[in-house]
Amino acid sequence: MVQYLIRLDDLCPTSNLEKWRPFFDLFDYYSIRPIVAVIPNNKDPKLLKCGSLNHNYWQYVRDLQKKEYAIAMHGFDHCYVSTNSGIMKQNRRSEFAGLPLYMQENKIMAAVQIFERENIRSDIFVAPAHSFDHNTLKALKKYSSIRIISDGLLTSPYKRFGFKWIPVQLSGVEPKLSRTWTFNYHPETCSKNDFEKLEAFIHRNHQYFVSLSELKFRRYSFWDVFHEKFLIYSRLLRDCL
Ligand SMILES: [Zn+2]
Repeated sequence: MVQYLIRLDDLCPTSNLEKWRPFFDLFDYYSIRPIVAVIPNNKDPKLLKCGSLNHNYWQYVRDLQKKEYAIAMHGFDHCYVSTNSGIMKQNRRSEFAGLPLYMQENKIMAAVQIFERENIRSDIFVAPAHSFDHNTLKALKKYSSIRIISDGLLTSPYKRFGFKWIPVQLSGVEPKLSRTWTFNYHPETCSKNDFEKLEAFIHRNHQYFVSLSELKFRRYSFWDVFHEKFLIYSRLLRDCL
């Protein structure tokens, strides 16, 4: 049977909440609990310009948490400081990949402190631009209780490097017959047309959306190494053409 998850990226104090509300209304109507990637300390100039500063921002995030949305830690400040594409090789920009361990530890520690101060519980990490490396995983293990990574291209959740991985394969809805698929949206930049497609899709398929507790994580196998490499390189090839 097919399972769908949905992830929304880039919630921060300057988000234009008018763009986020239709997503949340839609999910609440169908009792879908999304993963929301929250930036602990946004400094990304692009995201600072989305809307005006929300003084009740953390209360807003706590309210989402109360609705059992899965709040994910989306990096620390969302600023790209390296051109390393990390484990996933998807983008040549990163807040983490390629940085020395101590720098990554400092970012993770600071992000955890902000979430703790604001009473936000998070089990999931979402790396900005899908870019992180083994030092990021080490820093998460040492300074956080996060043991789930929302990233990867395989077609079902798995365990690897001491973490549970929930792959994120699609940037928009697409009907599938089996396996587990995450649709990744950015409400700030999502077009009206794409939102309407999502709405229609959820109307028809809401019963296949699951929450994290329903996922089964299998062991990452020898064949997965090759399968994942194949998926990564075919995506890179597709993006070059
Ligand atoms: Zn982001």
